[in-house]
Amino acid sequence: MADENWGDWDEPIQQKIIQKPKYLNRNPNDEFIEIESRLAGFIIGKGGSKIRSIQQDSQAFVSVIDSDVYGFKTVKLSGQDKAKERARQIITNIIEENDQDKIRQKMEKEAASYKPDIKPISDSDWEELMKEQEEHLKQKLAALPPIIKHFYKEHPEVAAMSNEEVEAFRELKNNIMVKHVDESNVSQIPKPVVKFYHAFENYPEILEEIKKQNFETPSPVQCQAWPIIMSGHDLIAIAQTGTGKTLAFLLPAFIHLDGQVTPRNERKGPSILVLAPTRELVLQIESEVNKYSYKGIKAISIYGGASSGKQKECLRKGVEIVIATPGRLNDFVGSGSIDLSNVTYIILDEADRMLDLGFEPQIRVSLLQVRPDRQTIMTSATWPPGVKRLAKSYTSNPVQVMVGSLDLTTVNTVKQEILFMEDDEKEEWLNNFLTNINEDDKVIIFVNKKVTVDQLSADLCMKRFNVESIHGGREQSDRETALESMRDGSVSILIATDVASRGIDINDITVVINYDFTKDIEEYVHRVGRTGRAGKTGLAITLMTRRDWAKAKELVDLMEKSGQEVPPELHDMARRFEARRERERAEGGDRPFRGRRGGGGGRGFSNGGGGRGFSGGGGYGGNRNNKW
Ligand code: AMP
Repeated sequence: MADENWGDWDEPIQQKIIQKPKYLNRNPNDEFIEIESRLAGFIIGKGGSKIRSIQQDSQAFVSVIDSDVYGFKTVKLSGQDKAKERARQIITNIIEENDQDKIRQKMEKEAASYKPDIKPISDSDWEELMKEQEEHLKQKLAALPPIIKHFYKEHPEVAAMSNEEVEAFRELKNNIMVKHVDESNVSQIPKPVVKFYHAFENYPEILEEIKKQNFETPSPVQCQAWPIIMSGHDLIAIAQTGTGKTLAFLLPAFIHLDGQVTPRNERKGPSILVLAPTRELVLQIESEVNKYSYKGIKAISIYGGASSGKQKECLRKGVEIVIATPGRLNDFVGSGSIDLSNVTYIILDEADRMLDLGFEPQIRVSLLQVRPDRQTIMTSATWPPGVKRLAKSYTSNPVQVMVGSLDLTTVNTVKQEILFMEDDEKEEWLNNFLTNINEDDKVIIFVNKKVTVDQLSADLCMKRFNVESIHGGREQSDRETALESMRDGSVSILIATDVASRGIDINDITVVINYDFTKDIEEYVHRVGRTGRAGKTGLAITLMTRRDWAKAKELVDLMEKSGQEVPPELHDMARRFEARRERERAEGGDRPFRGRRGGGGGRGFSNGGGGRGFSGGGGYGGNRNNKW
């Protein structure tokens, strides 16, 4: 069957399209391009923006005829011949760049024709290969300058301390514990320093920088970590945020970096690498580095969720300390955007958190690029098997410094209150509490789920409270803005989940509210440690429901250890839970125990409501030595 405009139906589609409808042919100088309809959007652009730019660049008049014919549309070009030619070229380029189907087809074709030259490797070949690899590594290391790790000279005042004095001092400083992880391979562990100048007398610029910060004494982890690191040992510090751990590894890093054989300007890539679990922590460490100016040492942070182009640009310009999340670092290593061959000092900060977040494979891949004789420092709040395994792979006969498995120093400076209520009473309590806070209070409200963050923040906004919120699902820039508003005081209430709160470094938080009880007691310590910092007094209020009774016993122990008054209801809750567990054991043999919903008898309310009549708990201010 023939059609007046379109020719015979049996003709191939392409030919039909080339025969244009008569109404398009009004001007014989017009030209037409047929494009697949699915690509028309790339030519038109948002609100016609692309077509306008094609017209501007080519000086031709360009229009896309709306009607779709067998999946094709017509683009009409009018104007001077040269202009039409330019327009045709621009359109062809746009289509080539955006036609994903074509791009995919091309890649598939290339992939199909690619024949990798892989021969199976026998066991003996494999052994040979490993030997070659080892030999290669040996040669590589032999060609590299040796790493200088020893920068410590014991101060006479430290040398004069007797063993008993050293032990008494460690006990006083939050019971510092120090030992070789491998107790069959021990060497002399340096004594702790008591004053800043004991560690840095030979580095007056560093002492000057510390002076500017107005710190009074080294923190426990610093007292013991500085002499150990500066004597060249690998170190594992079991310490949490708020204990001064960042400075514990950072100041020796400056000295290490400046003290190597190869002049700084001749090294390719960074010399110091810090890996940290979250963007917030990476940024916090970067800001800590930037507080100290030592011989012009520069640091940059690289992390996901921000433009990698800018980060690469900074790397290209040359940088000596890189602070990175493992994921983004891994991407950069894979694309050859970073050279780690000159790294001689590595910090794995909050190693337990990095493992929790599943970063082990990325850490392993990136560390393959770093010379194995580097110095390695690891920090972790806990010491579970995964962290031990990581330590075994990546440190060499490390010394472990522990400043209490839980950071009781921080929780000592915070008054901890426990309130008992039902879930549906929490909102009203919070409302009352926030209505009564002082003007200079800064409050963090911790919840367990992202959705609760969103609900609570919407609810409080409706009630005209000035709140900000952070959780892992929010954009990086929003999270940073939220934290910045808390820091500069424009907002005084922050709602957060634990993951997002890890790196929060706001020194003047006055109140922490555990709106939901924490998943474990260590997280409780983390949250509570967000307040009572840097000379400020702190209050932590925990809302407990009957569902949280399984955690009561641990909480009682913690509160007792940190010198807090334990409410009788909490003792009672812990007792009832233990009794119940005993009963379950007796009745059900080894049946796993599950917390009972409801039940639990009289719950003894102490619903605090408004005014909180709290008068501080030490902190750095009057009694700073207690904290450190
Ligand atoms: P960090 O444990 O590294 O997160 O440190 C927490 C805060 O303590 C940071 O703001 C540090 O600047 C501060 N800090 C570090 N060392 C000391 C010290 N020796 N005395 C007082 N504050 C310190």
